[in-house]
This record gives sequence, structure tokens and C-alpha cells, in this order.
Amino acid sequence: MIKIILKARKEESVKRFHPWIFSGAIQSIEGNPEEGELVALYSEDKQFLGIGHYQIGSIAVRIVSFEDVPVDFRFWAGKIKRAWELRKAIGLISETNNMYRLVHGEGDSLPGLIVDVYNETAIVQAHSIGMHNIREMLSQAILDTVDGVKNIYYKSSTTLPFKADIHPEDGYVSGKPDNDYTAKENGLLFYVDWLKGQKTGFFVDQRDNRSLLERYSGGKSVLNMFCYTGGFSVYAMRGNAKLVHSVDSSAKAIELTNANVALNYPSDNRHKAFAEDAFKFFAANKTDYDLIILDPPAFAKRRSALKNALKGYKRLNVKAFEQITPGGILFTFSCSQIVTKDQFRMAVFSAAAETKRNVRILHQLSQSADHPVNIYHPEGEYLKGLVLWVE
Ligand code: SAH
Repeated sequence: MIKIILKARKEESVKRFHPWIFSGAIQSIEGNPEEGELVALYSEDKQFLGIGHYQIGSIAVRIVSFEDVPVDFRFWAGKIKRAWELRKAIGLISETNNMYRLVHGEGDSLPGLIVDVYNETAIVQAHSIGMHNIREMLSQAILDTVDGVKNIYYKSSTTLPFKADIHPEDGYVSGKPDNDYTAKENGLLFYVDWLKGQKTGFFVDQRDNRSLLERYSGGKSVLNMFCYTGGFSVYAMRGNAKLVHSVDSSAKAIELTNANVALNYPSDNRHKAFAEDAFKFFAANKTDYDLIILDPPAFAKRRSALKNALKGYKRLNVKAFEQITPGGILFTFSCSQIVTKDQFRMAVFSAAAETKRNVRILHQLSQSADHPVNIYHPEGEYLKGLVLWVE
């Protein structure tokens, strides 16, 4: 295995089990590793530190083991098994719930890998060349380990680094569902379009937050802004909302939302969906809402975009504060990894102050437990939410 030697003191984060090595921390590479190849990491004074996947880019190595062990099929299968044991421990998998995240990258000590399960199909998504290279082993380990999974769909055409010039094709590596693309979340049915949908097809990270929303929905007029597949809308309907409006700029998302509402509440005229830009919708809106959900896409993907992202969150939340009824409830989220909980809260604070609404924080939310945060990798805590009482 090719050895990578770190600069003096750059081993400190590795000793605290942080799984990333930035390219600037490398002193020398003994050889010429291919992208995705396993490399052994050593400190300047030649102490073994770990084994990881090499990649060209700012994160040069993603550590998969801090011990000097063989990294073979048994190794990967062990990791998948531990991820599966964790999901069983959370108590997620039942008659009424068969969609969940099986592997959450660093949160499961599998940096560069995401696996979401929808009923009998697991969607495997590689974010590193190292994980791409072992996709068949990973798929086999999932089929061997996870009860109920019969099909594997590999979907990495948009998640692998563009510069690596790999161009993987998305497709089934094992099995294929016979025309049933539905899965259950907390007893509600959803169509999941992993073929054409965003990410792996559904945002399972909001599961617990949707349940909380259901509890607040009784008798309310609800606006689900950035609805995507309509998850929050369907829960609001089960929670006896009086009216539910779903908005997304993507026509495909609106189609999915309508289909999901119809799947659970056929011919229920409480729901209406609008394919419209969020700010345009707010500008033209004439309905008063008692409950608003704002779950926008990540406004900042890079640190350089942080300032603008915070302005964006403020601007958006101003719109919600301006339009929510007295005594209304706002569920507001940010899924930008680089925006901290405090920064997001400050943006919402500024929005509240600008609109002079009296606001109280009722809940501080995060991602569901099947998106665990590795304590040594706090960057994994990406989803932040606030539930606010707006007087
Ligand atoms: N709340 C959703 C996930 C939202 S993902 C859930 O629980 O599943 C973000 C969504 O915002 C995407 O569907 C995207 O199409 C939509 N979007 C992006 N820009 C938008 C804009 N300017 N106005 C309205 N929707 C937008």
C-alpha cells in the first residue's frame, strides 16, 4: 500500500479520529497513487495513523480505518452490518416504516458513501472514487445483510468529482422492482423517484420533523414552501390541517407532491399545489397561513457563498414573518453544511427583528437519527431547524 506522510503536527486531527486529510497537510507521498486507491497514513515521525481512500482535491484522504487491518470484503461487510445494527436499534424498521438511511457517510465511518433504502430497493450513492471502486462489494454486503432489500440501484452520476472523468452510469446492479416505487414512512405512502428525483429520491432526514409538524397541524392553514415530494404536506393532512398549499419551483416536484397527496388522501380537496418560485409566490400571495414550513435547498455549498447564503435565509424568513397570522407557527430549516446552528439562528433573528414580530423558539431541530453525527466529525450535523411561535 502506498504510504502518505503528514507534515509535523498534522497528525493531531487524525489522533482525534477526524476522518479527513486535507491536501495541505501532506508532506510526501511514497509513490503515485491512483484516485480511489487505499493509502496508509503516517506521521512525520513514522507512526501509523490510518488507512484511507486517496483522491485528488482539497480532501486528499478519507480515512476508513484507524487500525492497521486488512481492508477487504469482510472489512466492508462488517461496516455495513454495524450500520444495519444501528438502524435496527433506532427502531425505524417496521410494518409502517420501510424507508430509512442505511449509511450516512462519516456518520457511519464510511466517508464518501450514502445508502438510502426505499422498501425493497437500496440506492447506493458514492461521493468518492474509493467508494465508487468498491460499489460491487458494498452492494453484495447490503444484499447479504439487510432484511427486506432485494434490489440495488447505483446512482452516482452527479455525485462523483467531475474532474475524475469517470462518468458512471446510473442503473440497477442487482434486481429491479416490479413496478412498485412506493415506500412507507410512519404509515404514509410515498412514491419515490430514485431514477429522476433529486438526491436518492426522497429526503428521509426530515422524518421526525414531519411527525412533529403533524402534531401542530390541527385546524391550521398550512403553507409547505419548497415541498419537493410533498412530505410535510401529507403529514399536515393527516394532522387534520384545514388547508394545505404546497409550493416548489420544479414542475416535476409538484407532480410528485400531487401524486403523494392522492396516494394517501384521494379526492381530498384541502390540498393545492403551485409550481412557482418562492419569492414570487410570497409576493402574489393572498392567503393567510397559520403554519408555514420553509425547507429551502442548501443556499451555500462553499464557504465563499456563506455571506450571501445568510442574507438569503434572512430574506426568506422575512417573507414568512410578514405573512404568518398572529399565533402562527413557523418551521424554518437550513440544510447547508457550512452554515452553523448559531449563524442560522442569527439570520432568523435578524428577520424577526426586521418585521418586528414577537417570536419564541419552541423546538430546535436536526436530522433524524438514521443520519447520525460522528462525534469526531461535527461537520456531519448539517440540518438545522427552528420551530417558532410568532405572536
Ligand atoms: N421539504 C422537502 C425538501 C426540499 S428540497 C422535503 O421534505 O422533502 C428543496 C426544494 O426546493 C427542491 O424541490 C427545489 O425544486 C425547490 N426550490 C429550489 N429553488 C426554489 C425556489 N426559488 N422557489 C421554490 N422552490 C425552489
